[in-house]
Amino acid sequence: MTTNMMNQFHLPYCLVIEEGACERLNEILADCIPGIEQKKVIIATEPALVSIMKDYLEEMKRDLPCSETYLIEENSFDEAMELAKYICMNDCEVIIGVGGGKVLDVAKYAGFVGKIPYICVPTTLSNDSLASPVSVLGTVGDARKTLKCKIPTGIVVDVDVVMGAPVAQLQSGIGDTISKYTALYDWKLDAAHRKDRVDDFSYLISDMALTSLCYNEEKSLKSKEFIKILTQSLVLGGLAMEIAGNSRPSSGSEHLFCHSLEENHKEIQISHGMAVALGSLVSCRLQGQDVERLEHILKAYGMDMDPMNWGITEEIFVDTWLGAADTRKDRYTILNEVDLTRERLVQLYGELRSER
Ligand SMILES: [Zn+2]
Repeated sequence: MTTNMMNQFHLPYCLVIEEGACERLNEILADCIPGIEQKKVIIATEPALVSIMKDYLEEMKRDLPCSETYLIEENSFDEAMELAKYICMNDCEVIIGVGGGKVLDVAKYAGFVGKIPYICVPTTLSNDSLASPVSVLGTVGDARKTLKCKIPTGIVVDVDVVMGAPVAQLQSGIGDTISKYTALYDWKLDAAHRKDRVDDFSYLISDMALTSLCYNEEKSLKSKEFIKILTQSLVLGGLAMEIAGNSRPSSGSEHLFCHSLEENHKEIQISHGMAVALGSLVSCRLQGQDVERLEHILKAYGMDMDPMNWGITEEIFVDTWLGAADTRKDRYTILNEVDLTRERLVQLYGELRSER
């Protein structure tokens, strides 16, 4: 994967992050896609949200007379293709995704395959797929695949709605952002290894996403200020990927740990962002970066950094790290440069457990 000097990128046409955005959603939609009220619109959401978002969904349907609701049952490639087929067969012209990350990934991919504009209305902030040009979808069995697609045409975040999201999901969003600390280091390492260069602008944006969350003084997850900062960071993270033309500005060895955990230890119940945060605490040590800075931030957001509390035993931890580099063989990271022995990993596990 080389940095493409001529990488073409697109930016979302509309980005609204404000309180009560859903109450004026139709106005925002009309601004984003002129004439939307006459278009065939498909509103993709999940069964669990139909009652929670009832008022907004009804209002949307009232102002968009040619719209219909489509319920997404699972986050799979098959489901996305089913929806894409529905879009093509019914000549749908716009897709609006309302829901969490998994639903939005299905809607985003279906809109991409169906070649229609996609607008996302997240109800939570669990990872940076919000504005990214990729969708992570389930394939055969429990395996998940990251598929290239397009960034959304519009992003509408109602701060009041997202404030109602579970704390664990918001912490996952924090973890996915904080992990850029080690991802960016690995990206530079990769570029040096291939005698290539990182995309400076993409690097800058990803670093901004990281620092704005690090230096944010409002640490209460249930505050409007914090929700706005987290949204901005996640959106910037997605745009950095779009500009780079790959996921390197957001994903390094800490993500390889997460992939290895997902693939080899499906029994572990941990969010994507929490897993990459734990991964970052280890990658950071391997890279020789300031780990205390990272710990301090995660602690301030109330994140539990003891792997044992997530069911990750010493054996699982060692196993997962030993298998990490093999999950994406084309990805050069610090794991290619350190001698990761069992003893070293046992020691790192001990350090992680004692620093709580
Ligand atoms: Zn991630």
